[in-house]
Amino acid sequence: MARTITKITAHDVRFPTSRQLDGSDAMNQAPDYSAAFALIETDAGDGLAGHGLTFTIGRGNEICVKAIESLAPLVIGRTLEDITAEMGKFWRRLAGDSQLRWIGPEKGAIHLATAAIVNALWDLWAKVAGKPLWKLLADMTPTEIVRAIDFRHITDALTPDEARAILEANAPGKAVREREMRERGFPAYTTSAGWLGYSDDRLRTLCREAIAHGWTHFKQKVGGDIEDDLRRARLLREEIGAERRLMMDANQVWEVDEAIANMRRLAAFKPWWIEEPLSPDDILGHARVAEAVRPLGIGVATGEHCHNRIVFKQFLQAHALDFCQVDAARLGGVNEVLAVLLMAKKFGVPVCPHAGGVGLCELVQHLSIFDYIAVSASLENRVLEYVDHLHEHFVDPVVIRDGRYMPPENPGFSAALKPASLAAYSYPAGSAWRS
Ligand SMILES: [Mg+2]
Repeated sequence: MARTITKITAHDVRFPTSRQLDGSDAMNQAPDYSAAFALIETDAGDGLAGHGLTFTIGRGNEICVKAIESLAPLVIGRTLEDITAEMGKFWRRLAGDSQLRWIGPEKGAIHLATAAIVNALWDLWAKVAGKPLWKLLADMTPTEIVRAIDFRHITDALTPDEARAILEANAPGKAVREREMRERGFPAYTTSAGWLGYSDDRLRTLCREAIAHGWTHFKQKVGGDIEDDLRRARLLREEIGAERRLMMDANQVWEVDEAIANMRRLAAFKPWWIEEPLSPDDILGHARVAEAVRPLGIGVATGEHCHNRIVFKQFLQAHALDFCQVDAARLGGVNEVLAVLLMAKKFGVPVCPHAGGVGLCELVQHLSIFDYIAVSASLENRVLEYVDHLHEHFVDPVVIRDGRYMPPENPGFSAALKPASLAAYSYPAGSAWRS
């Protein structure tokens, strides 16, 4: 029976994380982790609803909420079956609406809102299928996956036929890799220890705790005073030893020459990658930094602020990134992430998604597990970010075991907030904001 989408509501939810300096880095000094939620209801009468979100860090979340409301009429009145039968075509109609696209196109608040709605539709689809999202994707045929992607503006890098060939080549090993994921999970790294606003003592304590919990990869925020960055890098290396991996994240604050000079000094502490050294739009600048730091054994990582598949295409074509950090809620939802996973595979670049914030870990675990099962078929140089904040507010929170994400088993995309949390952190009327 077809189910018609009858209603989409948008919610402004904000957590006052700035009070503890959780999430503080060189660019974002005091974020209040926030999400604009899209809730999709249908006429089916079985209680299944689609939950989707996009992530922001506070002020401006209301603009994403408004943008969800502006996109909603393009979805209401359609059936889930119609949408999912030609998901790529539907995605183009949503992202390419001839009037709304003017305030993008495919970037900014309108694209963040697109992510919330598209992710809610995939959540609903997975719930109707009775599967977690990663399993819904892993069970789709290569042709079905290709049909979900809008290849507009990327065919010079990846054609539908090439995408299908990648998926077909990996199809025979899917069952084995799915079993491996269920047994061992997907490898993760932690950013929880390295926030810029934390004291040295707190850094040491958090490192020791993380090592005790089995973490092997650690990320340090850099981009403040370089002497401070060097001191904290030395401290982190002392705590984690020579064998564990250290990554560094400058959160966009450097100039090109400055990034190269600073990384030449920080190279003494053997960072595995430097993340977002520059403006996220500076493709040629990243290419220059990458060329300069690769001989030092350092790769360039970026992508959490990469607006769309076309920008990722150019990063890949320009040999400007070594680690592709897709974000589940900045790209226009699952469909566009699929395009980037397949391009990264073609260009031989490992995908190490951005997570953290609120709900991003819950979302992106599905995409990395699918990536391994059906697209990359490799865990080499692949780790998924993990940040230990705010999971307690989710109905179906991530499960981490020995530094790895264990595959979610409940149907859907794991985006639903507990009703009590939704009420308490609604902005500005929730109890957390009135006190
Ligand atoms: Mg980052």
